[in-house]
Amino acid sequence: QDARVAAVLDLVRPNIWELEPYRCARDDYSEGILLDANENSFGSALPPEDRVLELERYPDPYQQPLKEKIAVFRNVRPEQIFVGVGSDEAIDLIMRVFCEPGRDQILVTPPTYGMYKVSAKTNDVGIVAVPLTPEFAVRVPEVLQAVAVSPRVKVIFLCSPGNPTAKLVPLEVVEQVLQGASGCMVVVDEAYVDFANANAVSACQLVEKYPNCLVLQTLSKAFGLAGIRCGMAIGHPAVIQVLNNVKAPYNVSQLTSHMAHKVFTAENLAVLQQNVSDILKEKTRVVEALQGLPAVKKIHPSDTNFILFEVPRAQEIYRDMAEAGVVARFRGHELHCKDCIRLTIGQAHENDTFLDLFKKTTEKYL
Ligand code: PMP
Repeated sequence: QDARVAAVLDLVRPNIWELEPYRCARDDYSEGILLDANENSFGSALPPEDRVLELERYPDPYQQPLKEKIAVFRNVRPEQIFVGVGSDEAIDLIMRVFCEPGRDQILVTPPTYGMYKVSAKTNDVGIVAVPLTPEFAVRVPEVLQAVAVSPRVKVIFLCSPGNPTAKLVPLEVVEQVLQGASGCMVVVDEAYVDFANANAVSACQLVEKYPNCLVLQTLSKAFGLAGIRCGMAIGHPAVIQVLNNVKAPYNVSQLTSHMAHKVFTAENLAVLQQNVSDILKEKTRVVEALQGLPAVKKIHPSDTNFILFEVPRAQEIYRDMAEAGVVARFRGHELHCKDCIRLTIGQAHENDTFLDLFKKTTEKYL
């Protein structure tokens, strides 16, 4: 295991090892009269009723108490967790840690989440694409072949369940990639995993065995906290330490961490479970309603809180509906997604409005 950890740490860019992580006086002294960080001791300019928390102070750089709560929930250890400004921050940091600009590459499996490409482009990192099958399965031999012929591929991004595919990547498949591509980081983006029975299907259970595995999760989806921007990467402590070394020191705000803490009580987690189960029930209802419509050609199976379905003239239908006030997402330009609309499952009344308008709009085009 030690040799495997060493091999993974070898993937870290040399300049990252050379840097000395930012330190503040509070790493050594956190109590007393704090005149160390050029904050404003007179307080914020907010009205008194909004002076919640100590917003004139910088937040905790390490978020240890929050990590302890997440660790219990995910059945991992706090030192295996990086907390960031959404999982989008982790995606970007991972590229910056492992990929030399102008030289290294990431591997993606389209159709997939768009930010991998945006972050790669921003960091001048190349992209190798190994498309999913038309049924949205990962082509493992092709992925391993691509990695074997291009030693510049440093990070493989698997999205499970996928966006926009809505399909889970089975853990055996993730494991085949982790084993076959042991010279790469394998990032398993699990933004939607809580809609698919997280305990059974999460790659978190693989991080202990595979130091090249990093799992991304977020409070933006099942937790219903997209507005606070809180995501995490879960992996080997040595890899997590490197992410912590390069992150901005105070990336997670006091407001974010305050709200994130609150959700991890037994009572609030029960609300989360109830919301997830209500969303899944609504999804079944919407799928059944769509199945009865002549315009709908195909509905892909879904392990998430959204569905991807095929309807002729999808782009016009999407546009007409958006102009009439119901906004789904046109995905027809993505690989294997010709004429596809991606619909997030909303509350019952929102879904009803969607279904009514969808019927009217498609009738116009039939
Ligand atoms: N991964 C996937 C697959 C997503 O769909 C999204 C959000 N659309 C993210 C990551 C980003 O999530 P966050 O809000 O945590 O940045």
